[in-house]
Order: sequence, then structure tokens, then C-alpha cells
Amino acid sequence: MNHGQSNGSMRNGNTDVIVIGGGVIGCWTAHYLLQRGCRVTIIERDLVGRGASGVNCGYVCPSHALPLCAPGAIRHSLPSLLTPGGALSIPMRFDPFLWKWLFHFATKCSARHRDHAAPVRHGLLQASMQLYRDYVNESDDGIDSGNTVANSIDWERRGLLLVHRYQSSLDRYQATADDLQSRFAVHAERLDGSSICDLEPSLVHGLAGGWFFPNDAHLNPDRLICHLKESILRRGGRFVEQTEVHEMVIAGGKVDGLKTSSGSFRADYYVLATGAEAPRFAKPLGCQIPIVPGKGYSMSFASGASSPVTPMIFEDSHVAVTPLAGHTRIGSTMQLTGYDRSVDAKRLKMIQKSAQSYLRHRLPQQPETSSAAWRPMVYDDLPCIDRSATAHNAFVAAGNGMIGISTGTGTGRLIAEMICGEEPFLDVEPFSLSRFNRARKATSPPTSSFNEFPSGESISSGQPASPIVNVFSPSRI
Ligand SMILES: Cc1cc2nc3c(=O)[nH]c(=O)nc-3n(C[C@H](O)[C@H](O)[C@H](O)COP(=O)(O)OP(=O)(O)OC[C@H]3O[C@@H](n4cnc5c(N)ncnc54)[C@H](O)[C@@H]3O)c2cc1C
Repeated sequence: MNHGQSNGSMRNGNTDVIVIGGGVIGCWTAHYLLQRGCRVTIIERDLVGRGASGVNCGYVCPSHALPLCAPGAIRHSLPSLLTPGGALSIPMRFDPFLWKWLFHFATKCSARHRDHAAPVRHGLLQASMQLYRDYVNESDDGIDSGNTVANSIDWERRGLLLVHRYQSSLDRYQATADDLQSRFAVHAERLDGSSICDLEPSLVHGLAGGWFFPNDAHLNPDRLICHLKESILRRGGRFVEQTEVHEMVIAGGKVDGLKTSSGSFRADYYVLATGAEAPRFAKPLGCQIPIVPGKGYSMSFASGASSPVTPMIFEDSHVAVTPLAGHTRIGSTMQLTGYDRSVDAKRLKMIQKSAQSYLRHRLPQQPETSSAAWRPMVYDDLPCIDRSATAHNAFVAAGNGMIGISTGTGTGRLIAEMICGEEPFLDVEPFSLSRFNRARKATSPPTSSFNEFPSGESISSGQPASPIVNVFSPSRI
């Protein structure tokens, strides 16, 4: 394990840190570094929050403790993979990096890995939820109406409702709910078809029922990013936007500077928080960063009086719905299409149609906004939060997959603690980069190394949603 400095006496006020990537992970990292007195610069290729972090569904969901890779995941994914337009699609192409990722994903679909990963995810999710609650000053009685931080990010504790169209899928979720309750005390309430309509009047009648997680929360991701940006600037942090980092200069066992589209930058410490694109810098950092982009879509519709008020996932269609102030956001799909962010209009229509089939309220014909973004997916469904083994002043904070908003606070705080020589508040061993070297020795698959960043792009041929896919289904968007 490479985390942290042993010397806790570092004078943070003189410490310059560059965070590469202005997504939610980079911004929370900057937040916790500033809290410790560091001087922080965020370098972002685009504008802050234009990656996955601004376009997601905004769930802060401790209910998502179970990893994607689980026993039976592959068997249950096949119907979706084989259905043209399934919510999960992996277009066939020559991509050794992806094949190797899939090979490792398959090896992790075991009870052993699930039993290792679930408590680790649970710990990070719970801690991150608490950090959000502290940040917005939420007490056990909730939020008072004058709470400016909560209001500025639209923080709400309305829970998360998993809606099941089919009785068989509602029943099947019982085992997952029991598991979450008994192992992690994550409570879910089972509701029948009429009770879900009482809870959420915008739902059509005739659905089988649902599972309600009362302790989940949601926020407006765009507003979170704006709020963090303002707060970072106010405390002296610096943003260098529309600037791409091209190269890390390595000298004497450390990063000695960055070459960017706007010239060179130097600092004492560097944090790689480039989400799905983190593997690009694996080679200079001397590590494996097995992240592939999991493309998802989101759309925002103007909302009205009868729009949804509860965050929901339509389990049998893999569609998520979030009520935001004045908007309804809808998100869906997981396409392993490579680094392709094109927006497929047909796919958007199918997601909209699928969502509409659950809702009494008619969505407007056209969304106000629509976008595609890359979830940073690691094959073991645990993030990478660690120091580079070879460049001692560089840290990696990436790979938060489908729970990057939910785990952003915890991830940022861990990295800040490591840089500032504090004892990390959670055990970081499960997030270490060295776990991938161990995996390589144990399995030695035949293809290229994970530190060879894949180039080239491929376009998905996938289409609509399909029923019952375990791997990308239980309460996941
Ligand atoms: C449709 C959808 C719905 C989702 N819903 C949820 C949800 O409800 N709850 C939840 O917890 N998570 C959700 N997620 C996942 C979540 O959005 C991600 O896990 C999270 O945003 C990842 O944050 P990040 O900062 O690591 O990456 P990003 O937000 O992608 O940020 C990385 C940044 O790095 C920049 N960058 C990359 N390379 C360079 C470079 N060379 N130089 C400079 N800058 C660079 C990029 O431009 C980008 O802005 C969802 C994702 C999707 C796609």
C-alpha cells in the first residue's frame, strides 16, 4: 500500500497541489485539500463538470452497496447483450484493453469478491453520505427551509424507490433486500402496486410494486458542481479550464511538471482525477488503471405539477428518474462503446418511451437537454484511491463507476488526508492500485497491459431496453 506520508507535520499552507480533472472527484478533492490549507489548482480540459459529473442522476445512494460483479451476473446479462438495443451493449470490435477488462470482470463475478467488495463499498458510501450531511448541515430532524447550502445544491432526503413492473422481478429482489438489511442494516420497505402509487402519484397503475430505500438522498449535480466551484474559488483555489494535460514529466521518482495545451505547470503534488480517462496516465505513473468508459445517457425535461417527486429506478427497464427543481432528469444505459460520446437520437427516444410507460404525467415531446457521458468503470467495481508506486508525489482518484456522486466526498477526503500525511479515516487498502498487479500475476490473461491506454474509437450499434439483467440492473443506472 502506498498511501499517505508518514510525516504528519507537513506545512500544508506551503503545499501546492494540482488536481487534473474538474469532475465531482476533482472538486471534492480540492475542497478537502483547501480545508487543510493547501494551495490548489484544478486543470480541466473542458469546463468544470462537463464530464460525467454534471449530467448524472444525482443520487446519493448508500443503498448501492453491492458491486456489479456478482455471481450469475454474466448469465443474467446475456439477454440484454443479445437483444438489439439492450440497456447493456458491448459492440464487437478489436479492443484488447476492453477484452482484458471483461476477462477480469468475469473472474470477479464470484461470491468471494461480492463478500469482499460489498462491505468496502458500504463503508465508503456511508461515510460519504455522512460527509454530505455534515456539509449541508443536515440534522436527524432533516433540513430547515433556510439552509442555504442544501438549497443551493437541491439536497433532498426523499429516499429512492425501485419500481418493478413484473411480480417476478419484485419477488426476486427480496433476497437482495434481505441481504442489504442483514449485512449492512440498509433498510428497504416492500410496497405493493397500489402503495407505490400512494407514495408516488405520477406512476401508472398496474405495476407490480417496489422497494423503497428511505435513507437515500439526491441533489442536483449541475448545481453541486457550480456550488463547489464557487466555494473553491472563494477560498483561493484556482481553475484552469479549457486546458488539456498532455503529458506528465517524470524525473527522479516523481512528477516534475505537466505539459498542457496552455503551457507547463508545476506543483508539489498531483492528483489524477480524470474519471474514465485516467488510464491515459497509467504508464508514466507506473501502475495499472483498469478503467473503461461505461457510456450512459441523460435527458432533462421541464416539469409540471404532476411530475415525479420521488427519485425512482424503473428496474425492469434500467431507467432512472430524478426530480430536480423545475426539471425531471431521466438517465439510462451502459454501453461499453469505447471513448465515444456521440448522442444517439434513436436511443434517447427509446429511453423516453420506456420512462413514459411508467408515468401518468406526459413528458414534453422534446427534452430541454440531453447528453452522453462516461462512467469510469473498474472491473472489480471499487474505485482507485491511492498514491502512485513509482511517482511518489502523484495520487490517483478515479474509477468511481456508477456511484461517483455518492462517493465523491469520501474519495476526496481520503486523497486530501493522504497528501497531508494524516491517517486516512477509512481503510484504503481495498482501493489500492497494487491490487491490479496481484490480479495480473494470478491470472495472466493473454492481452495487453492495462497501462496501455486504448486509442481509437468505436461506435455502439445498441438499441432499446431489455428485461431483467442482473449485472446492470438491481437499482443501477
Ligand atoms: C447517466 C449517468 C447517471 C449517473 N447517475 C449517478 C447517480 O445518480 N449517482 C452517482 O453517485 N453516480 C452516478 N453516475 C456516475 C457519476 O456520474 C460518475 O461516477 C462521476 O461523475 C465520476 O466523476 P469523475 O470526477 O471521476 O469523472 P468526470 O466527471 O468524468 O470528470 C473527469 C474530468 O476530467 C477531465 N479530463 C479528462 N482528461 C483530461 C486531461 N487530459 N486534462 C484535463 N482534464 C481532463 C474531463 O474533461 C472531465 O471533466 C452516473 C453516470 C451517468 C453517465
